[in-house]
Amino acid sequence: MQQFIDSYDFTGKKAIVRVDFNVPLDENFNITDDTRIRRAMPTLKKVLSSGGAVIIMSHLGRPKKVDPKFSLKHIVGRVSECLGVPVKFADDCMKADELAAGLKPGEALLLENLRFYAEEEGKPRGLAEDASEEEKAAAKKAVKESQKEFTAKLASYADCYINDAFGTAHRAHASTALIAKYFPNDKMFGYLMKAETDAVDYVLKHAERPLTAIIGGSKVSSKLAVLKNLLGVVDNLIIGGGMGYTFIKSQGGHIGDSLHEDELIPDAREILREAEKRGVRIVLSVATKAGDSFTNDANTQIVDIHNIPDGWEGMDASPASLANWKKVIMASKTILWNGPVGVFEFPNFAHGTLEIAKDLAEATAAGAYTLVGGGDSVAAVTQMGYADKVSYVSTGGGALLEAIEGKTLPGVAAILE
Ligand code: AMP
Repeated sequence: MQQFIDSYDFTGKKAIVRVDFNVPLDENFNITDDTRIRRAMPTLKKVLSSGGAVIIMSHLGRPKKVDPKFSLKHIVGRVSECLGVPVKFADDCMKADELAAGLKPGEALLLENLRFYAEEEGKPRGLAEDASEEEKAAAKKAVKESQKEFTAKLASYADCYINDAFGTAHRAHASTALIAKYFPNDKMFGYLMKAETDAVDYVLKHAERPLTAIIGGSKVSSKLAVLKNLLGVVDNLIIGGGMGYTFIKSQGGHIGDSLHEDELIPDAREILREAEKRGVRIVLSVATKAGDSFTNDANTQIVDIHNIPDGWEGMDASPASLANWKKVIMASKTILWNGPVGVFEFPNFAHGTLEIAKDLAEATAAGAYTLVGGGDSVAAVTQMGYADKVSYVSTGGGALLEAIEGKTLPGVAAILE
């Protein structure tokens, strides 16, 4: 039975909390963006202030073995600062019995990176490249078997389980999904997880209309399921960035050297047809800022989107496309944005994406509900100083996309079951 963090009695209880503290670190292990740490604080503080103790668990990066580079010890200081109590550290997440048992109400313990163990993800490691199918199957079976012990050990530290890691909720890992089974009557979402799932739910199921989605980024292939699901949900679908060129090519346009996926052309055509059938307005680019090389310092010209010269590639949204999109955005009551509309990493081609961030802030001020997710889109909104001028900034990348695809994420399902 699912519990609720607001009504659960944490007095004298230990809560094991899965957070997503997968924060970026520089070469000296300084945190360059602590958003994910800060966003988990309401949940952790709630437990502490209600007379409970927290055992915090997370992954950091993608280590395939114990690797000090990916140690969570680098972030203990910042977590302590944010939480306002000194956080103890267990340097092996499987050997934290004593530290966990000794926790008093109001105290916090951080476990070392869960992904130092293959059992967290439940995928075999260290298999020889030429391993046979039988060897692969046996290794998979072995890790699944030991994953049970791993999960049981984590569960043994606590009285209740809170999942506040939306960024990892699309993974059915030990700490994000499997552990919930050990707390059939004491499992719940944290505040961040609840806010994230509510935001997606609102957009997909209860949005005030017109509802517009802006989908950018590099490839149609990585967002095909998202585009298809959105066709059944939105009134307008703005498609920008690298993925737009496959659509333009599917209409017979000449896209020069622009990024595209020929094998996705049938899918692009199908999406355009389906949109027409459903009365969804798809708004593609009309012109592009093209560059003569894939570099920040490329020569540029604004060209018609259907007539990009050979030797040139579309790299940022043009003023005409941005003006069209802005009209759609400002006429919408709900707007979802994921993915840059240009090569955002190159400052000379970041303008379009920054403009979209500005438009969303303007639309929010005019009363629209705006949800922004995905690395580059969030970076654009943050860079412009608009993080608190849009309605909701998601901490999820892949998780948000899967939620928009209409899937119930394993981390969510494990609490609801
Ligand atoms: P995604 O991870 O799918 O959201 O894609 C983000 C990436 O799309 C960023 O690295 C951008 O540089 C890239 N991108 C956006 N527009 C273009 C474009 N016109 N040409 C090449 N790459 C692009």
